[in-house]
Amino acid sequence: MKYTVITGASSGIGYESALAFASRNQNVIVIARREDQLHKLKQEIHNINPDLDVVIKPADLSESEHVHALYESLKEYDIETWVNNAGFGNSAPITEQNVHKIEKMLRVNIEALTTLSTLYAHDYAEKEGATLINVGSDVGYRLVANGVSYAATKFYVTAFTEGLAQELQDQGAPMKVKLLAPAMTETEFVKTAREIDEFSYRDNVQKYHTAKEMAEFMLELYDSEKVVGKVNSESYEFELLDPIYPYTSRRKAD
Ligand code: NAP
Repeated sequence: MKYTVITGASSGIGYESALAFASRNQNVIVIARREDQLHKLKQEIHNINPDLDVVIKPADLSESEHVHALYESLKEYDIETWVNNAGFGNSAPITEQNVHKIEKMLRVNIEALTTLSTLYAHDYAEKEGATLINVGSDVGYRLVANGVSYAATKFYVTAFTEGLAQELQDQGAPMKVKLLAPAMTETEFVKTAREIDEFSYRDNVQKYHTAKEMAEFMLELYDSEKVVGKVNSESYEFELLDPIYPYTSRRKAD
């Protein structure tokens, strides 16, 4: 039995991605803190296909020990695809930002993603068919006011993920590494970033995608030979691209 792991599957892009992979008859392992939401997702998947295995793994990815324990607990599974999607933002100028929230954001958006990508690459780099997808952002390629710290975490994600993809390619390793860079997407993201109870995308945002559309883009990226799947910040078209950052290969770097 092969599995797709999705972190941050309790809402938004992660929730819809789990449904999208399940609609392709893939067993899924779903991770987040809100266990009730993961049970709701499991029920929804079983309404579509009761034969799929849906494994629920509650975890707080801002706790380093939880991240390691989580990975250890998945050693028994054959993981064909790993999606690091969990993450959150913050909306404030740096002079006003809550430093504890920012530290937590660094641990989830950067530390957990790096740990899980690295451990997955240790075990699966040489496995044909293995794929890692990390969720960055279009603001992983451009800075925005009131979101500089968040954007900087996504610059890390885009650089780390493009770099890992190229390193593995250099080594001739079969594992594929991909970067999904959404732009505004209708999820719980804005509520968490602004710490508000309600937010209407329809009333406040000119252009955005739904989480379901973003999950479809993730599958397009998964199916393609390209490394980057990015929403164009102007047109909002989804584009499949080669790596964007300049990269010096190992032979040239030595
Ligand atoms: P969302 O609806 O708020 O989903 C975020 C997910 O991350 C939730 O499942 C949440 O689960 C999980 N998460 C947050 N903190 C966690 C923690 N400490 N431990 C475990 N899981 C945690 O927002 P979303 O838009 O779908 O976000 C998914 C990804 O897309 C993020 O990486 C985000 O940065 C990226 N993105 C979003 C947009 C956008 O406009 N929405 C644009 C570009 C990129 P629990 O709260 O249950 O733990």
